[in-house]
Amino acid sequence: MKKGMNTKVVKNYINGQWKEADYSALMDIENPSTGEVIGSVPLSTATEAQLAIEAASDAFSSWKDMPVSRRVAPLYKLAELLRVNEEKISRILSEEMGKSLPDARAEMKRAIENVEVACGMPVLQQGDKLIGSSYGIDGEVLNLPVGVFVMIAPFNFPAMVPFWFLPYAIATGNTFILKPSEQVPLTMQFITELIDQIGLPDGVYNLVNGDKVVADAFLESNKVQGVSVVGSTPVSQLIAAKCVSSNKRFQAMGGAKNHLIAMPDARVDEVVRNMISSCYGCAGQRCMASSAIVAVGDEMYKTICEKFIEESGKVIVANPLDPEVADESMVMGPVISGNSKEFILNMIDTGVKEGATLALDGRGLLVKGCENGHFVGATVFTDVKPGMEIHKTEIFGPVVVILKADTLDDAIQIINDHQYGNGASIYTQNGYWVRKFKLEAQAGMIGINIGIPAPVAYLPFGGMKESQMSAIKAQGKAVIDFYTENKVITERYWTEE
Ligand code: NAD
Repeated sequence: MKKGMNTKVVKNYINGQWKEADYSALMDIENPSTGEVIGSVPLSTATEAQLAIEAASDAFSSWKDMPVSRRVAPLYKLAELLRVNEEKISRILSEEMGKSLPDARAEMKRAIENVEVACGMPVLQQGDKLIGSSYGIDGEVLNLPVGVFVMIAPFNFPAMVPFWFLPYAIATGNTFILKPSEQVPLTMQFITELIDQIGLPDGVYNLVNGDKVVADAFLESNKVQGVSVVGSTPVSQLIAAKCVSSNKRFQAMGGAKNHLIAMPDARVDEVVRNMISSCYGCAGQRCMASSAIVAVGDEMYKTICEKFIEESGKVIVANPLDPEVADESMVMGPVISGNSKEFILNMIDTGVKEGATLALDGRGLLVKGCENGHFVGATVFTDVKPGMEIHKTEIFGPVVVILKADTLDDAIQIINDHQYGNGASIYTQNGYWVRKFKLEAQAGMIGINIGIPAPVAYLPFGGMKESQMSAIKAQGKAVIDFYTENKVITERYWTEE
């Protein structure tokens, strides 16, 4: 890897102060398009986690009593600062993660939207009161802040995923510690510079960079009341299990393999255009990316294979910050790392070995001027059978498998037999099929003629089965239950003698 001019070492932000981390090692932060080192991230020791926990715990004692209107006031400022700096942040994000600029901008819009929703906390956090739950007795539900919360983030949405949690945790009166993915720490480093300006009391928001060592220190602390993790299923399951054994509340979101169903009446040209952006946006590294297409009926299977393969072959693969393509809506950047690319290439070999037809091969692709980048071209397998390794495994790259089903029931069965259940979409104009799909497909987020059914910030975000190991989803109103103790009061007063 070539060292760039600007190799900054990211810092931790603890108790309202920037701080050089105590670390076991410094890891290179790489621009995945060029292979250039653009900074270093400290793999912080457990001591750093302890400092953040102490700061967040001390801050909680007064933050929880701050009136809610005053707790959201800094968030209004944050929304404004994020908006003003949206383009700058999008470029940082695109450089370290490799997604296209339009994708990075869309990610920032969703992050800001989450801050705006959390600004509604004076309404969202209101409790309930039932007068006369029995004779002379009233019942009341108070939504009270809980304490210190931690968020452990994945690499693929360096800004949006932390914002599914951060503004809600703070607005509800809790204190918060973020551990970004060590692969993409620069985006939240810059955003934390903005958070530093919004007037939060020290310790309410903290940032600790690092890997599993830091995460474990949070998980082992009895001063941490709750953890949200978004990551691969094995990691999320491990963290969820540790939360159970240390009596912490948790939200644990895992991997995905999202299916798109093309019914015989689907409007093929529009559908294929939609599928292309769903499958290849973010180089297939969205948790809502689709990577399995199920065509219903021989005719639709043949047409979809033909058109999808043809359109896949036209996907532009480039450094997303190359000025010639930077504003194109459908540019596919690199995958996150050399390791990730190697895994994807191995999965393509697996598909060939298990007998699927490699109809479009994205291996061996070189992007001029980016010879050290981690690019994989659009790859399509046809003749894929349910349960093949390339169908079962989350490949998290631009590799799409196309399967055939005879009926909608068979297509739904393919989805329901899969271990993941994040998103699933159907393309049809038939109301009966839509209704059946909505009710029966086992996925947490359903699309009707929409390839990426990622809900806006006002609605809950989350999956089923191994895509989510907890009941409470992220963002919107749903997350308030996670961040508050629903204390129930039952009260009676006797009348005066
Ligand atoms: P990952 O599981 O490798 O890492 C996620 C986070 O966990 C990182 O911060 C990492 O440092 C930390 N971590 C890793 N090993 C750990 C351990 N043993 N103990 C404690 N912490 C540990 O995931 P990733 O590669 O960064 O992200 C991609 C994955 O995230 C994909 O599987 C994707 O589907 C999933 N994802 C899911 C959603 C969703 O909503 N379901 C959203 C985004 C990403």
